[in-house]
Formats: sequence, C-alpha cells, structure tokens
Amino acid sequence: IMKQFSTLLLQNTIQSSRFLLGRLKPKPVFTAVAQKHASAFLRDLNPESLPKVAIIGRPNVGKSTIFNRLAKRKVALVYNTPDSHVTRDYQEHLGSLGDLCFRVMDTSGLEPGMRPSSIQGRSMSITRTLLDQAHVVLMVVDARTGIVAQDEVIAQWLRSNCSREVVLVANKSDTKEARAHHDDVVIDAYRLGFGSPVFVSAEGNVGMDDLYLALQPHIDEAAERVLRMEGEDLGVLQRQDLDRKKE
Ligand code: GDP
Repeated sequence: IMKQFSTLLLQNTIQSSRFLLGRLKPKPVFTAVAQKHASAFLRDLNPESLPKVAIIGRPNVGKSTIFNRLAKRKVALVYNTPDSHVTRDYQEHLGSLGDLCFRVMDTSGLEPGMRPSSIQGRSMSITRTLLDQAHVVLMVVDARTGIVAQDEVIAQWLRSNCSREVVLVANKSDTKEARAHHDDVVIDAYRLGFGSPVFVSAEGNVGMDDLYLALQPHIDEAAERVLRMEGEDLGVLQRQDLDRKKE
C-alpha cells in the first residue's frame, strides 16, 4: 500500500510540476526574439569584429562566385582562366547567409602551391595571415571534375598550416558531370581530411541551406565569444530588441 501511495504521490508531483512549468513557459513572441543569432547583434554593434569566413581552393573551382553570393555583390568578378588570377588581390566584404552575418574573405590569386616560387612565398604568407584571422575556412572543390591532385596539395597545406575549422564545399553541383560523379566525390573527399562535402551551386544558388547548417555553429560560437569579450549580455540585447519592437 505504501509503495502504491508513494508512486501515486510521485505521479501527482510530476503532473503538477508539468502544469506549473507550462504556465511559466515564455510567451511565443519572446521565444521568437530569443532565436535571433548573436552575429546579427554583432553586425549592428560592431561589424568590424564579425566572425570571418575565408574561402580557399584551387583556381576556377568557383571561389569568387561563392564570395559574390555570400557578399551579395551584384557585379560578379569572375575569371575563366587560371592566368587571370596572377594579378588579383584578396578581397574582404560584409557577408550574410540567412540571418548569419560575417565577414567573407576570398583568397583567389593566393592559392598555395600554384605559383612560381618567388611569388608563391609571398602569397602563401598572405594566405596564412588571412587564415589566421578567419574563424572558419571554406575549402572549395569542383564537383564537376571531382577531387584532383591540386586539391590534395591545398588540403595538405591546410592541415599543416591552419588550425581553423574547415568546411569542405563541392561547387558546380548543378552540372550533369557533377551529378554523375556525386558518389565518387563524396568518397574521394574523405581523403582531404575535412569530412563529407556540402554540395552547392554558387551560380545557381543551390545548396545554400546546407551551407548555412555547416556554418551556423561556428559563426554563432565566434560571435557569442566576441559579444562576451565586449561585455555584452546576449539576454540584455534580446530584451532591448523586444522593447524596440514593442515601441
Ligand atoms: P575561382 O577561380 O575559384 O575564384 O572561380 P570563379 O568564381 O572565378 O569561377 C570559375 C568559373 O566557374 C566561372 O566561369 C564561373 O562562371 C564558373 N562557376 C562558378 N560557380 C559555378 C556553379 O555553381 N556552377 C557552374 N556550372 N559554374 C560555376
């Protein structure tokens, strides 16, 4: 009898606490505001300190096209031949993907292991400096050609020179060849050591939702770290945002 009584008492306690918790649940409007990402607050407070995303890969894989897509640039600065990269400098721009905000850096023209040795030394040291500033690196490969030797050189270089999180991106997945080689690209990509690739088409604006999911934890973590360092309380910012919306 005592056992049955205590079981009943326990069930009652659980039910009443569930009832109480239900009543204490925040109103939906607050929950919606609380889901705003840290990087969106940081963009308004101090856009210079937004997390940085660096784009790296061999020539012609679509780095500039991805850069333009993330930077929402209307004028596409794309070149078709590897030679055209020689005179190009690196670019940095405010970027966004959905509600994620960051700074995006294009390393086109600074690809490691691609140049005559005198220029190569300089460009590799610039690339290393850029990657040191980055919070996350997008290594781009071409899903149409599959993984080639130059990709392995860059991946090897990244593994020994870069301590940042690397997201592997297989671009040009809109093409017939890419669809035919899809499984080979997935398997071969594991050789690079950065897990399975996110398939996108920068030109066709395809796969950006998957890229968002891959970037989001890194951007959030870096933005929250900066906000904490700057003494900003995310909870306070969210309440301020809510107050502004009420006004
Ligand atoms: P980068 O050298 O890595 O910066 O490459 P670019 O962005 O300059 O692009 C090289 C070529 O690939 C250009 O002709 C682009 O139009 C083309 N390209 C870029 N992204 C895509 C894509 O998603 N699909 C297809 N089919 N072509 C693309």
